[in-house]
Amino acid sequence: MKETLKELLKNSYAPLSRYEVAAIVKCSDGATFEGVNVETSSPASGICAERNALYSAIAAGYKKEDIESIYIMNKRSNPCFPCFICRQALNDLCNPDTYIISLSYNGTKSVSVQVKDLCPFSFGEKDLDNVL
Ligand SMILES: [Zn+2]
Repeated sequence: MKETLKELLKNSYAPLSRYEVAAIVKCSDGATFEGVNVETSSPASGICAERNALYSAIAAGYKKEDIESIYIMNKRSNPCFPCFICRQALNDLCNPDTYIISLSYNGTKSVSVQVKDLCPFSFGEKDLDNVL
């Protein structure tokens, strides 16, 4: 996974932030979906690597119970964590027990965390059903 992420990082398009990120969603049947961050001159129209990969899995018909783990790598010496927009997507589209595994560029450092730990006190489907 480490070498695939490193190769995938070459496709990141981050001319504004110079913060390249690659992500791979791994499903329980072994299928994988890749994503990189893509920036545009209008920042809101860009997308992070995590959501890019996750939405590809959803577009292919996978459901939250199918998503086993998500691997992330940036081009820095320390692992990175999903931004809060991505955390909302992870909270909505993955199980709370899904693992996020973040690797540093050289692969010497990694951090594994579950979605439920990334998103304490989250907003989600349960809140939308809570009508007075
Ligand atoms: Zn993000």
